Amino acid sequence: MADVSGIRKFADAADYTRNFIVREEIGKYLPGGRHFIDEELINRCISEAESKTIDPVRIREIIAKSESTCETLEPQEVAALMQVSDPGLFEEMRAAADRIKHKVYDNRIVMFAPLYMSNMCVNGCRYCGFREGNREQRRRVLTMDELKEEIDVVAGRIGHKRLIAVYGEHPSTSTEYIAETIETCYSRKVKAPLSGAEVGIRRVNVNAAPLPIADLKVLRSVGIGTFQVFQETYNRKLYEEMHPAWSVKGNYDWRTTCFHRCLEAGVDDVGLGVLYGLCDWRFELLATVLHARDLERWFNIGPHTLSFPRLEPASGTRVPEESPWLIDDDTFARILVIARLSVPYTGMIVTARESPESRNRVIDHGMTQLDCSSNIAIKGYSDFENEAHQEKERQQFMLCDNRSIDEMVRYLADRGIITSFCTAGYRCGRTGGCIMDALKTGREGKFCKINAVLTFREWLDDFASPETRAVGEKLIDRELAGIKDWLPKFYPSVLKQYEATCRGERDLFF
Ligand code: SAM
Ligand code: SF4
Repeated sequence: MADVSGIRKFADAADYTRNFIVREEIGKYLPGGRHFIDEELINRCISEAESKTIDPVRIREIIAKSESTCETLEPQEVAALMQVSDPGLFEEMRAAADRIKHKVYDNRIVMFAPLYMSNMCVNGCRYCGFREGNREQRRRVLTMDELKEEIDVVAGRIGHKRLIAVYGEHPSTSTEYIAETIETCYSRKVKAPLSGAEVGIRRVNVNAAPLPIADLKVLRSVGIGTFQVFQETYNRKLYEEMHPAWSVKGNYDWRTTCFHRCLEAGVDDVGLGVLYGLCDWRFELLATVLHARDLERWFNIGPHTLSFPRLEPASGTRVPEESPWLIDDDTFARILVIARLSVPYTGMIVTARESPESRNRVIDHGMTQLDCSSNIAIKGYSDFENEAHQEKERQQFMLCDNRSIDEMVRYLADRGIITSFCTAGYRCGRTGGCIMDALKTGREGKFCKINAVLTFREWLDDFASPETRAVGEKLIDRELAGIKDWLPKFYPSVLKQYEATCRGERDLFF
């Protein structure tokens, strides 16, 4: 059990709302009161880029810099990329984004599942179905027994190894509760339907509200993977319009400094994101780059992942339909390409909020992670036989891509992409600063390829339909041949682990 003796407790929601923020932990990262999200600089970069004619030579130089160094671009360079409208030049950017993705992550896509723990919330975010006072939402907090039932489906029937556990912000889902849910996820083991092998969750990432340093240390002690907090919008004025001042989330500086606290606390895989559709996407993407650069400056560690949620319909709100800043699929695809070029080493997540057409389209735009067979209703996995079933009153927003994992794995394999269930990185200490160089030089991608093959084999034997298995096995043959070519001396050890996996051993990794 986690040691939670050092963290504060709150009597009720009002006490929590008044006292949760630890003000002393904000100022340190905003020296002299200057915020690293420099709105003036962002607006200047956008207007200067707009006023210049596009110079293809400069654009190609920026692309080449991103590709060769894998370092985060300067904001002026990002703004220049945003101006490109010529389809031919944009295609050069997309192709480079795809090459960079291959250099850093090889031909794999990491698979994960969202698991919602609670829809209780003290905040009033205007776009969200979980917001306080929304009477259309049916509230509940999963008990540990209910969570085990969810894991039995997510890990035992669908075959996921990697979760993003999602929480509202409420004293009933305190850090103590989050720690207990993480421990429950790791400890629950189930028999796989096809092979009878013991399977379970191996990495729990968390999407929750910003926390103070003491609480983050507790989550670190129970083996949290990535800590994700989406900024929603970096534009302070719009942020304040969307998040009432009386709410905890209404404090812009508490939220924007959250990852600095994570890295200080040793939670060194951090996941940034913007809720696209609340503000001008160009502002948001430039702000994301400034955020990444500030983390690199303080800690020499950048974002482990970037997420690209787009506003989706939610219960009791019209913001997702009526916001003036909603983006179309073309813009979404542009955002991904520019993000890949701007922060070349980072993982990029595109969730089932997107339509199948939109996700299929951006697979070669630099993305590295997706979810499938997702159900975001509270206790949705175990209550509904059919994973595509949705209920607006018990979920935060509506999902668009309801494809099953089997269908998606086959779709990707048909395109030569291996689905990775690998979770080795953080268990071998390959996180944060230790992994930055390995990512930028492409070393990590090679390790991951081997682990991807081993975990893909596991999933095929434990869960796949015969058709998917057939396509998947052909891909594995190609991957093994590739590993033999690059690493002839190391190959026998890879083969040994692979054969052990085929015989039913589980969780072997490099
Ligand atoms: N409650 C915590 C918080 O807000 O920081 C945890 C995350 S919340 C449950 C997960 C994320 O869902 C939010 O950060 C937001 O970006 C996203 N979200 C909220 N409403 C949404 C909507 N209508 N459409 C798409 N995403 C939404
Ligand atoms: Fe609560 Fe998060 Fe929804 Fe805001 S986005 S209402 S904080 S669950």
